[in-house]
Amino acid sequence: MLVDVDHLLATPIFQPGRCSIGFHVLHSEYVIPLYFLGAFFIRHKIIRLVIIGLAFHMITDFIDCLWMLSKCETCSAAEVFRGL
Ligand SMILES: [Zn+2]
Repeated sequence: MLVDVDHLLATPIFQPGRCSIGFHVLHSEYVIPLYFLGAFFIRHKIIRLVIIGLAFHMITDFIDCLWMLSKCETCSAAEVFRGL
């Protein structure tokens, strides 16, 4: 997905076991609610489809993080959920 271009801004670009939620710019906890709000309130069809795609991407990344967390306690996914 195009949203993962923000992974290129991160160092290192790829790190196995890293949870992208809360780490990358377009995956931050401040931006994710905007995707879900936009999916409801944006009227432009094409933009809304892109936003819905982003929202689903966040869901899949989140599931990925939960899955990683269940497999690996030392992965960065554990840092994201430590406060919960
Ligand atoms: Zn992602």
